Amino acid sequence: MSSSSVVVQKYGGSSVADVDRLKRVAARVACTRAAGHAVVVVVSAMGNTTNELLNLARRVSSEPGRRELDMLLSVGERITMALLSMAINDLGVPAVSFTGSQSGILTDDRHAGARIVEVRPERIRKALDDGRVAIVAGFQGMSRSREITTLGRGGSDTTAVALAAALGAEVCEILTDVDGVFSADPRQVADAHRIDALSYGEALALFRGGARVLHPEAVAWAAKAGIVLHTGLAEPGPDGWGRGTDIRSLVPREDPHPVAVAADADLEIARPGPGGMAELLRWCAEVEAPVRFVYGSFALLDRRDFHHVDTVTWPKGATHEPGGLLTVAGTGGGTLPNLLFGETVMKQLGIEAVYCEMDGDRLCWLLPSSERGRLGEAATALHRALVAP
Ligand code: ASP
Ligand code: MG
Repeated sequence: MSSSSVVVQKYGGSSVADVDRLKRVAARVACTRAAGHAVVVVVSAMGNTTNELLNLARRVSSEPGRRELDMLLSVGERITMALLSMAINDLGVPAVSFTGSQSGILTDDRHAGARIVEVRPERIRKALDDGRVAIVAGFQGMSRSREITTLGRGGSDTTAVALAAALGAEVCEILTDVDGVFSADPRQVADAHRIDALSYGEALALFRGGARVLHPEAVAWAAKAGIVLHTGLAEPGPDGWGRGTDIRSLVPREDPHPVAVAADADLEIARPGPGGMAELLRWCAEVEAPVRFVYGSFALLDRRDFHHVDTVTWPKGATHEPGGLLTVAGTGGGTLPNLLFGETVMKQLGIEAVYCEMDGDRLCWLLPSSERGRLGEAATALHRALVAP
């Protein structure tokens, strides 16, 4: 197997949501194999499976243990891997499926938000050497103490990139039902447009800001390994294949300005009690709360990966409320004039932010729980003012 011929393709949950789609994915994989590539396919859970499993757990227990939750959630991807492998074998192409731990995805031991620390893909290499397509269950790994862990919602992207890096793949494709990264969520902002290419830094700012196209950790891995990430359609839409988006090291732009807006409604704003920030953060570490950002007087926690957010006992005197975050990203776009322009926009909408921030590549506004319902409106206005021109 020559390492340059390895292609890693990751298929998102909507692209494998039912048997027909799964079979179409199998056909595409078979084509890639027929073109002479060694193919590794990373899969997500089918459709809404992960949410359904979470709901099932909540019906059984008001406070499901995090270890057992990971045992449960990791099943979603395993269903897809086995079915896809069967479908590919039926096309006469030898394929074999592997769980995250069988693929050598080693993580730390933080359940529901584990980070990959090492990849030892011996079994995958062997399968490729034997001429087989390797199908890998995304979103999961194994800790040093041999516990099954999951990588946080959306984490199968990270599985794909980490494997691509470990296998020396030149191409890592993240395939889904959207034609790449858009300048805003097209369901929220009508005039959002597809972006041809983003730098790693821009993509990181956008995905950390809550744009759900790709998992931020996946971009961090790609940046570290210098892998070009291509994201695009898993199958042709009404307008054909589309062109998708490349995420790579440097994207020259004529004049630096914001390229995209992200809105995140799934955050919890946590403020310390009398014990101060240090106590709050120690508590976060103890209960494995997913801390996304820490600012001077509060921390932002990721509600999507904080499965016990509503049942956990908070430190004495600490307060918390859901919040919404708006992020405007683009190399060199975090300037004072842009910030002031954005402030004017918010003022015109009558939205009072809790906090705003500016750095070289990013502007952001944090909205309190009372304004969270207006994220879409604010994203549309910021997009029109700062990105669209
Ligand atoms: N199935 C998991 C989720 O829904 C992981 C993934 O799709 O990447 O978040
Ligand atoms: Mg995803």
